[in-house]
Amino acid sequence: MLRCALSLLFLPFFLFAEKKEVTVVMQFSEGFSPQALQEMQAEADRIVQKAGVRLAFRHRHEASQDSFSELIFFKMTGRCEMDAFPALLDERGPLAFTFTTDGRILPFGEVKCDRLRESIKTVMSGGDYSQGNQLLGRAMGRVLAHELYHIIARTKGHGKGGVAKESLSAHQLIADKLDLADHDCAFIRSGSGKKFL
Ligand SMILES: [Zn+2]
Repeated sequence: MLRCALSLLFLPFFLFAEKKEVTVVMQFSEGFSPQALQEMQAEADRIVQKAGVRLAFRHRHEASQDSFSELIFFKMTGRCEMDAFPALLDERGPLAFTFTTDGRILPFGEVKCDRLRESIKTVMSGGDYSQGNQLLGRAMGRVLAHELYHIIARTKGHGKGGVAKESLSAHQLIADKLDLADHDCAFIRSGSGKKFL
């Protein structure tokens, strides 16, 4: 019994910690693949759960009549769907970003699907296209999780590795696995007790 009690003492504290529920409201400006959307939600939720956060997703039209205590709004611009065209080499720019005002991080972000799609195409090979929307959704989920890190931890800074790294390569966006580093999870936990606005 004592041994059992002692081993419980050494369990990581976060196993007992309550998860913070956050609602992400999405607004798509152009078309999206339902498969990519499903994968994005699953991937972003998987990543932030490690930091004690659970995500619920709503389309903007679904969320208009409800009220939520912790709400983050994301505009999904461009076409969030894979296609079979060769990669368009656009000028470099952010794949996603978070809005700020007076140096303060706001709970509003944007994911640029066109840039994201063209970026991952540069590292996709023939066989990858059969699961193209799944890979695009995974990439969308990872950049979304990166922006959620900024918003929930209230920082413009970046981690040394993992999802919170300053820039994620196209390879990292579609690799089998990419997580938040332990240090960045702790950072999110330290910020997650406060309201966003
Ligand atoms: Zn960043």
